[in-house]
Amino acid sequence: MTGALAGSAPGRSQAGPHPLGGSFGVPAGRGADTTALVLFSGGQDSTACLAWALDRYARVETVGFDYGQRHHVELDCRLTVRTELAAVFPHWAARLGDDHLLDLRLLGQLSDTALTSDRAIELAANGLPNTFVPGRNLLFLGFAAALAYRRGASVLVGGMCETDYSGYPDCRDNTLKAMQVALSLGLDTPMVVETPLMWLSKAQTWALAHTLGGDRLIDLTINHTHTCYLGERGVRHAWGHGCGGCPACQLRQAGFEAWRQGGGA
Ligand code: ZN
Repeated sequence: MTGALAGSAPGRSQAGPHPLGGSFGVPAGRGADTTALVLFSGGQDSTACLAWALDRYARVETVGFDYGQRHHVELDCRLTVRTELAAVFPHWAARLGDDHLLDLRLLGQLSDTALTSDRAIELAANGLPNTFVPGRNLLFLGFAAALAYRRGASVLVGGMCETDYSGYPDCRDNTLKAMQVALSLGLDTPMVVETPLMWLSKAQTWALAHTLGGDRLIDLTINHTHTCYLGERGVRHAWGHGCGGCPACQLRQAGFEAWRQGGGA
């Protein structure tokens, strides 16, 4: 991370961007005795983040949020992906700690969106998709930080991304930098927020997965992660399961095809 706020965050690295695309550099040696908590939804992005964390931290726990998703498939995929990662990558299995699922269904009281009702996904007049739950990632990070504190974790890892930007202001790098400072001050302990996908395209996220875990991690991602807004699992495309028509599927497909054609290098 090279922004103006970098120096003000406790525990902040000064090492610059990580070569694999992390916006917050990890100095040599860091991670040897560090516990990280990954915000893990069971989707492609957070699976890449989980692999990224397992590659560099001594212990990695995961947290998911039940916020009344229209389809339970996403929560089911979380556990499958964790099990598969541990089975395929034994050196990561030794680092993979507990999973936590927090009940945040109260978010349904704050939103009337396509995620929590049967309305179609569409863009509102302000350009934000109506799947938008205002400030959702700020809430997620706040709860994750409280959990991390209790679990002795000093790093939060999330798949927020500006590159394939869909209008979520709480996914912006500056928002997350500010959140990191607020959490560290409010908890009175360093709480680093790592966003390894922040500046990656979807093609580059596939490339990151391949760098971390080779074809086995690509296959695992295709077969077991879930992205589709409609909760479709039946059809298995080259890029994974999904309806193929919703914005999430289209983004995933386009990224996969771009990566296969040599993008993401
Ligand atoms: Zn879909």
